[in-house]
Amino acid sequence: MTAKPLTTNQQLVLGVLKQSPSPLSAYDILHKLRNKGIKAPLQVYRALEVLIDLGVTHRLESLNAFVACSGKNCVQGSMSGFMICNSCGRAEEFCDSQLHEKLQHIASDHRFMPSHSVVEISGICARCSTLPG
Ligand SMILES: [Zn+2]
Ligand SMILES: [Zn+2]
Repeated sequence: MTAKPLTTNQQLVLGVLKQSPSPLSAYDILHKLRNKGIKAPLQVYRALEVLIDLGVTHRLESLNAFVACSGKNCVQGSMSGFMICNSCGRAEEFCDSQLHEKLQHIASDHRFMPSHSVVEISGICARCSTLPG
């Protein structure tokens, strides 16, 4: 299967996500792309759907927001993990192959066929916890 080139809308949405230090809601994305010709939420949702399928964007369920994949250790799109700071709102992507395996085992113990696992840890990031005061 060859990867299709991204459409203009998909490139725009991915670009906005890559530039943002923190996760963005679909509305945030729409707002940033208003002057680029994207006017309808549906255009943003359609683009996000494809980007998520491609594994270049992840959805954070707890925030109902989206982030560009950092692409570091993402396990083929089958697991993504995020540490989400309650203070600054940044989401740092992590991946752990042992955790991934563990999740697969838990699922298969329940005869569940996992397609994608998202692990979200909320708390305070290193940067915020070391800020004075
Ligand atoms: Zn990723
Ligand atoms: Zn923080």
